[in-house]
Amino acid sequence: MISKGEIGGILSEYDLSNLAIGTLGSHSALNIFKGAREEGIKTVCVCRETDAILYERFSLADDLILVKDFVEVLNEDVQEKLRHLNAILVPHGSFTAYLGTEQMTDNLHVPMFGNRELLCWEASREKQKQWLSKATLRLPKTFERPEEINGLTIAKLPGAQGGKGYFLSNSPESFYEKAEKMIRRGLLSRRDLSRIHLQEYILGVNVYPHYFSSIISDDVEFLGVDKRYESTIDAIGRIPAGEQLEMAISPTYTIVGNIPITLRESLLPEFIRIGDNLVKASKEIASPGIVGPFCLETIVTEKLEIYVFEISARIVAGTNVGIGTSPYAYLKYGESMYAGRRIALEIRRARKSKRLQDIVT
Ligand code: AMP
Ligand code: AMP
Repeated sequence: MISKGEIGGILSEYDLSNLAIGTLGSHSALNIFKGAREEGIKTVCVCRETDAILYERFSLADDLILVKDFVEVLNEDVQEKLRHLNAILVPHGSFTAYLGTEQMTDNLHVPMFGNRELLCWEASREKQKQWLSKATLRLPKTFERPEEINGLTIAKLPGAQGGKGYFLSNSPESFYEKAEKMIRRGLLSRRDLSRIHLQEYILGVNVYPHYFSSIISDDVEFLGVDKRYESTIDAIGRIPAGEQLEMAISPTYTIVGNIPITLRESLLPEFIRIGDNLVKASKEIASPGIVGPFCLETIVTEKLEIYVFEISARIVAGTNVGIGTSPYAYLKYGESMYAGRRIALEIRRARKSKRLQDIVT
């Protein structure tokens, strides 16, 4: 892990009146760039040549650093360019997906918005479980081995795979049968089979709340909610049951997009308490705790019980549904506010109160 001291040293060389907000061109980059623009901060996009069309068309990046592959952001010349531009990097899902957590936390010598240490907690299922348990949240049961499966169970591949290769089973036999099928379809490798995570399948609807933990205003803000649009799980309802059986479909959960939702108002107090508890627990596991956006993946059952099955200690792409505003951001700010802009606002406020070192690592 790169030390606070090293990042402080880099920041002290920065021209703070000419900061830039930088990120990899994917995931929630447009959201982040638009937010920076609206707060009057420059933007820099590390972009794959094949995706440049997007960032050129929307014209939200003041600087484009073109690469063939995202891992090139680790190259010394790219990092030097970013520091030269006084960039603060905003980490998102593509950092973890394409660089890996360790590379991101140990080898990116550019100030990063948020708490790097928590990105390691997010990356490990064991650590996540400890964190969520510390916050005394309701979690789905987990099974150590396929032999323990005794009810509807979801099998997940390790890492941020966007639900690719997930499948359901309800007994050890059906687990091995389905796994073989997934391997034959090329959705799963034999190597992955031993690393699979087995979780009780919760019957309910998916709710993904977005929060923002502000050190500067000492508040945990509730800014929006989305649900996901996943292939093929969201497609099977379009096929009649008879054909589903004939085709022996095993649904997968590949993320394609997100849909905004508003919640039954009586659920909101509990979601707010959950956010507060997570921030409190985060301070105990990795001081100063969560800095900036975080998001949960939850399922709400018919008894209105909220099961939490994942946490992301950074901006999530689901916040893209709030670009412009979301009902909850509107209620709080009464003006255009969304995750990308909230990050830029925090950076601006921290700069003004000479506390930038408190919000980057
Ligand atoms: P990408 O750059 O699109 O490959 O995304 C990087 C990672 O972020 C992927 O592994 C996805 O799991 C996750 N991701 C991307 N877009 C979304 C989204 N709209 N909602 C949830 N997760 C996403
Ligand atoms: P994840 O990669 O953990 O974000 O999961 C991808 C998708 O799988 C989620 O959006 C849900 O639709 C589904 N899912 C994950 N875990 C569970 C669970 N314990 N019970 C029911 N559905 C789940």
